[in-house]
Amino acid sequence: MRIPIKSERDNIFILLPGIPARSARGFFGYCSVVLLRSETGWVLFDTGHYGDRELLIEALSKQRLSPGDISYVVISHLHYDHCLNLPLFPQATIILGEKELEYARSVHAGERVDHAIPDSFESLLTNGGIWLVQSEKALDPKISVFETPGHTPGSIALLFQGAERTILCGDAVKNAWEFMNGCSDMVLGDPKAACESIQQIRKCGTVFIPGHDRAFRKAGDGLEFITRIDWSITAQVYPESRDSELYRLEA
Ligand SMILES: [Zn+2]
Repeated sequence: MRIPIKSERDNIFILLPGIPARSARGFFGYCSVVLLRSETGWVLFDTGHYGDRELLIEALSKQRLSPGDISYVVISHLHYDHCLNLPLFPQATIILGEKELEYARSVHAGERVDHAIPDSFESLLTNGGIWLVQSEKALDPKISVFETPGHTPGSIALLFQGAERTILCGDAVKNAWEFMNGCSDMVLGDPKAACESIQQIRKCGTVFIPGHDRAFRKAGDGLEFITRIDWSITAQVYPESRDSELYRLEA
């Protein structure tokens, strides 16, 4: 879906919408996967996980693109729900926080515990090159990425400065609840830094695409959603038919 922001020249497309849901059996891990046009090529922000792979390819083809057309893949952080489809983009340059790579290596070495970092994360990073972000990095005059530590120590977010200042938050802001409350319920880095990152994001943007929720715009002391959730869970539970709907979330 194209997000309804003010300028036609702001080419930002939410390919897969983030879903703010958990289950009694663990994470669904459906993150926002976003496509942007930069001056030097198409940029993908986060990739989703294996369960998203087919839908991601389909969503790209609706934009008349194939994975080979993507020049840059920004990985907000190395949790599996954001990075497992990196192998679809072997030619793309990966953009990742330098501290995130150090963090994932420390997890791999057994120095820290984070079960959401894939065991094979190093093998995901063998693409057409990797840019490690320290503090901040500009891709073109309108697009830059910057550190947002807290959720993980090396998380990064992306700022698109078009007619509006749109921030792709990654999991520094997972959902509207975290944005409004200024704190996160899943912090693997420094809790104080997590709150400061949310404040920084609030200050710098006017439109926000959280890691796992609808896009919204600041409106007075609150917010106004600008995309919707329409998500359902179906299951094959005997004696029901194959796709009986167990749950639907429309918001
Ligand atoms: Zn996530």
